Amino acid sequence: MASISQLPTPVDLDLSVATSLSNATLRQRIAEYGDCLEAPEPDEWFPNEPTSEEARTAYEQTARELCADCPVIAECLERALRLEAVPYVVPHGIFGGTAPWTRRAINRNRRRRAYAGAMEVSA
Ligand code: SF4
Repeated sequence: MASISQLPTPVDLDLSVATSLSNATLRQRIAEYGDCLEAPEPDEWFPNEPTSEEARTAYEQTARELCADCPVIAECLERALRLEAVPYVVPHGIFGGTAPWTRRAINRNRRRRAYAGAMEVSA
């Protein structure tokens, strides 16, 4: 497995193609190509919630490592973001190389940008 310093940072992934795909296409591509679907230990993608800063860092590293070679990492991250953008859905587990709190932050930024864009249009 690649050293952590060589792995891409999932939050820097280019999601421009994935965001243009329908939910059905995202789901289909992940079902066909997702690395974890045939993993012998699928529970690895659902570590215990970390209880310390150190454990959070370890969780993030694990997320990056588990998904590093997946050919549909961008599609997976986009799909998880869409599913978790629904109110009252609590993100859990590793998707698209990210921890749940990372996806919460990305969705928070998306909502802020959408709100700012709507304000500009109505001004
Ligand atoms: S990016 Fe990670 S969680 Fe998503 S399909 Fe690939 S291996 Fe599975």
